[in-house]
Amino acid sequence: MRATAKHEPQCEPQLEIIMCGIFGYIGPKENSLELVIKGLQKLEYRGYDSWGVATELDGELFVDKKIGKISEANLDDFKDKKCNFAIGHTRWATHGGVTDTNAHPHFSSDKTIAVVHNGIIENYEEIREMIGKENFVSDTDTEVIPQLIAKYRKEMGFKEAVLETIKKLKGRYAIVVTNVGENYLIAARRGSPLIVGVGENEYFLASDIPAFLEYTQNVNYLDDDEMVIVDGGVEFMNITTGEPIKKRLVNIDLKAESAEKGDYDHFMLKEIMEQKESILRAINQDTDEIMHIAQMIKNSRGCFLSGCGTAGKVCMAGEYFFSLIANRHVNFAPSSEFPVYHHFLRPESLLIVVSQSGETADVLEAMEAAKKKGCKVLSIVNSEGSTIARQSDFSLHIKAGVEKAVASTKAATSQMALLMLIATAMVGELQEGRRLLAEVASQINDMLNPRFLTYIKDVAERIKDHENCYIIGKAENYPMALEAAIKIQEVSYVHAEGFAAGELKHGPIALVTEGTPCISLIANDEVKSDTINNTIELKARGAHIIGISPEKHEVFDDWIKVPDVGIASPLVNIIPTQLLAYYISVLRGLDPDMPRNLAKSVTVK
Ligand code: GLU
Repeated sequence: MRATAKHEPQCEPQLEIIMCGIFGYIGPKENSLELVIKGLQKLEYRGYDSWGVATELDGELFVDKKIGKISEANLDDFKDKKCNFAIGHTRWATHGGVTDTNAHPHFSSDKTIAVVHNGIIENYEEIREMIGKENFVSDTDTEVIPQLIAKYRKEMGFKEAVLETIKKLKGRYAIVVTNVGENYLIAARRGSPLIVGVGENEYFLASDIPAFLEYTQNVNYLDDDEMVIVDGGVEFMNITTGEPIKKRLVNIDLKAESAEKGDYDHFMLKEIMEQKESILRAINQDTDEIMHIAQMIKNSRGCFLSGCGTAGKVCMAGEYFFSLIANRHVNFAPSSEFPVYHHFLRPESLLIVVSQSGETADVLEAMEAAKKKGCKVLSIVNSEGSTIARQSDFSLHIKAGVEKAVASTKAATSQMALLMLIATAMVGELQEGRRLLAEVASQINDMLNPRFLTYIKDVAERIKDHENCYIIGKAENYPMALEAAIKIQEVSYVHAEGFAAGELKHGPIALVTEGTPCISLIANDEVKSDTINNTIELKARGAHIIGISPEKHEVFDDWIKVPDVGIASPLVNIIPTQLLAYYISVLRGLDPDMPRNLAKSVTVK
């Protein structure tokens, strides 16, 4: 056992909580520790505070866990450790500091039961009291799980003890449990994702598909309050009723290499470059289905758009598309705020949710609020079998491929393209919409050439040392100003803020001083001259203006030329800001794929 760090004071539960990666393997392969570590390396984007693995060696529980990134794990340390099953974890700490002891797997005092967990056990203090605080070695909420299983295990079988424990847990979890002497794994979920990969006589239990994609494309999705027992086969059961469940095996259409970096230094750059193809895939949807959805929006009485973070900004852009293209008022609310809108919901209302992962907890809560009022839910996701997709009445898949960088890029443009396509379908112009968006994809293809990238890197070099950066845009480019700010904040830690261009004079302009980098997003539309005037106002206060626009203007200190694509301008204007964020991050010596305090999917409220 190498977990040696000393006990540290418990940290406060955080408000915005993100997720870890869990992975378990059982099957004929004897290098299961190595396999689990390699699989977890593919889930590292989900959490990188610490990592750990557990298995049974010579009849005893073996646990190795430590702080740091799993990508830095030395696989040679595990080569001679032969075992046919293992569990592992990459952590995004919620309860308990980042220490070796707080890393997962956690185990019972008698070292028989080991558990990896994603989520938060809300009643952990109560369970700690019940078991006796003195028995705990970590500060985590998770440790109550193996301790409680071990307690029940004294009176009943392993499966029954896990079931009994789960019934006592409050909160959200995906767990994988192993028990010394019993060659099988048990997994269960409520609120956090868990997928079963089914290979030939072997099984994989993971938070996300890339962990096992090189071994199998056949999966079973576990739903909330379901448990799976994996030994020679898989047995699914409902936690509440104890009844067995039949599951459909789903074949997922993803290639293992699509989840790899290839020749790129970072996933973020790879994913930015993929936008020329991902937009085309997003708009390649079944015509009847899009027409049906367009009709649903038209028939609805009260239509809402909701998402979080980047997906939320995409929804805001959608609000403009529906208004400008389809002359339809759709209301946007960030998902964390959406439940307060429940007064306006009725059975004829429609909620459209947008989520890359399809697992965002705040979005699920928004959906719950909508369903309570009998209103229908349409989801737009990048993960077909995700909880959000499965829990909505209709779901559209953007087909962007695996997006691993924490900062969302290709998923965002694909989501936007699809919302715009639906808006065109609402006015009987689906074919025209498709043609325009296909043209946008081809223009993006031309734009993303090596010269363009070098130029943006040069601009990034000029602004990288500034601590503040402001972005402005008007109409459909206003949400893009907000999104550009998120991108720069996330990966470069520069204080970036986006504003509606016309709002500057009402306050924010006081922030601008000599040399402050200000990015102006401009399209060839009817608000162009207003936005230029607002840009001139910034320049008059000494701002360094970076103009992103199809046409040059003398107010720009740096001009990033983008194609003129009419109403689709948000799709092209956002791309240089993604690249700027990326290069500022790299030039500041940061890792854009793994920004501090963040991880990819926010699966807890
Ligand atoms: N709450 C657990 C912890 O802080 C799990 C966090 C996670 O999902 O990574 O260790």
